[in-house]
Amino acid sequence: MGLLIGAQVRLCAFVGIVFKLEIEMKKTVTKEVTCCDCCEKEEHMETCINCKVEHCYACSKTEGKKYNHAVNFGGSSDGYYCRECDVELMSARNNARHIAYRKIDSLRNEAKAWSDDFKLRADAAENELKALARG
Ligand SMILES: [Zn+2]
Ligand SMILES: [Zn+2]
Repeated sequence: MGLLIGAQVRLCAFVGIVFKLEIEMKKTVTKEVTCCDCCEKEEHMETCINCKVEHCYACSKTEGKKYNHAVNFGGSSDGYYCRECDVELMSARNNARHIAYRKIDSLRNEAKAWSDDFKLRADAAENELKALARG
């Protein structure tokens, strides 16, 4: 009788271990595939180039900065930095890749400012002519 109880206890312990392993495996897999480190949503992730933290699309808008890899277009080589790394690298100024992304970003802003200003002056000139045509 005592022996039988002992065997049952061992069996329970064994089942317990298998169950525990399954839970641990599941947890590991979920995290490796897709889990926003901010809100834990599962979808396409932006990964910080510097610290590898992963953010979902919504969180990436508020928790980090996306840098385009070219002045006139974006694409697969665009870079994402979480806010902490972006701020840290910006003040450290010793990360060549981050500096290059920042240069492109500032040129993009410059191009946008030019084109906005150009559009304003073009509209003004066109409106001048329209006003003359009416008179
Ligand atoms: Zn998220
Ligand atoms: Zn980071």
